[in-house]
Amino acid sequence: MDIRQEVKAIEQEVIELRRDFHRHPELGFEEFRTAGIIRDYLGALNLDDVLTCSGTGTIGILRGGKPGKTVMMRADIDALPIQEESGEPFSSETPGVAHACGHDGHTAMLLGEAKIWAAHRDEIPGTLVFLFQPNEEDAGAQIMIDDGAIEMAGNPEAVFGCHLKHNFPFGTIAMVPGPMMASSYYFKVTIRGKGGHGGYPHLCISPISAASHVIASIDTFNSLEQNVFRPTVISIGKIHAGEKEIVIPDTLELEGSIRCLHFDHQHVHNRFREIVEKTCDLHRCTCDIELKCGNSLLANDERLFELARTTAEDLVGMEHVLTRDVAVMGGDDFAEFSNRIPGMYYFIGMGDPELGTDVPNHNSKFRLHEGSLAIGMEMQMNLVMNYLNR
Ligand SMILES: [Zn+2]
Ligand SMILES: [Zn+2]
Repeated sequence: MDIRQEVKAIEQEVIELRRDFHRHPELGFEEFRTAGIIRDYLGALNLDDVLTCSGTGTIGILRGGKPGKTVMMRADIDALPIQEESGEPFSSETPGVAHACGHDGHTAMLLGEAKIWAAHRDEIPGTLVFLFQPNEEDAGAQIMIDDGAIEMAGNPEAVFGCHLKHNFPFGTIAMVPGPMMASSYYFKVTIRGKGGHGGYPHLCISPISAASHVIASIDTFNSLEQNVFRPTVISIGKIHAGEKEIVIPDTLELEGSIRCLHFDHQHVHNRFREIVEKTCDLHRCTCDIELKCGNSLLANDERLFELARTTAEDLVGMEHVLTRDVAVMGGDDFAEFSNRIPGMYYFIGMGDPELGTDVPNHNSKFRLHEGSLAIGMEMQMNLVMNYLNR
């Protein structure tokens, strides 16, 4: 099979699919229309199985004509609660909801790939799994895994995924070995003191005063205790206390996130708890600390990275494969799969200032470079073929 030729032949169909998803975006776990289209499309390809998982999740399975390993490819399908202002003629028809993260493109690419693979099943030395995941923006992967997605997929030996990315120029592919997207944990700290009259602070215990020291201690930890080669960010996004200027409140709530682009997040969490608890104690307050996982660390398998890098170099040329300044403090729940199965995740560059496709994702003016869809399909298909033939 000539992958480039096959992708070219189907490119326009994939673009049309993507535009249709774009017109009709759906929020996490509400992707009913989208899932319906995915299932109808896969159903027409005569796959061995098309399974439903976690409501709007879909797993398509294609057994190739020759024995071999099982490879899973993942696309996310959800949109965001954003009012679209991209100016595209196929803009969202649903007020307040938009595909502003490019998942419409991811979904369309994987459908196109499935169609090509299905037409060439005799040539596949292994089994392919096409996984369409709901609600990437809020931890949908974990729910699919809890519902048995990996077992339903036949316990694949490798998992691949990608994201269309505005900040890398169109025509490039970006990737790193090891940590690529940070783990994120959300914290909520409730500081308890003793409220009372603002004129008699000595009779009260101010949680506001304690919090000011807690924040300063966190900032000191950020700047002085961190190994700068193991990036960590602790940021505070929300603080609430008090109702009236003459009253010292009983409690204060502080919320934020801890992000680590390394494996040693447990140490950071332990020190965070210690710093908050001891600082509160010093100021005669007590505290409760809740830590909730947002995303796990997304770290690429080193050997799959080498395979992906050479695959990308063959496809777009060595000078267009970027491996510096690629890792980010944002997250992707693809990590939940790649923590359990050796995984490889990469970015497909689509930035072009003239087309406005360099606007960041999650922005109302976000635009997708449709030329990057063919590159993304070719990249993943070549990677799968190279992996299975290895
Ligand atoms: Zn997103
Ligand atoms: Zn995304």
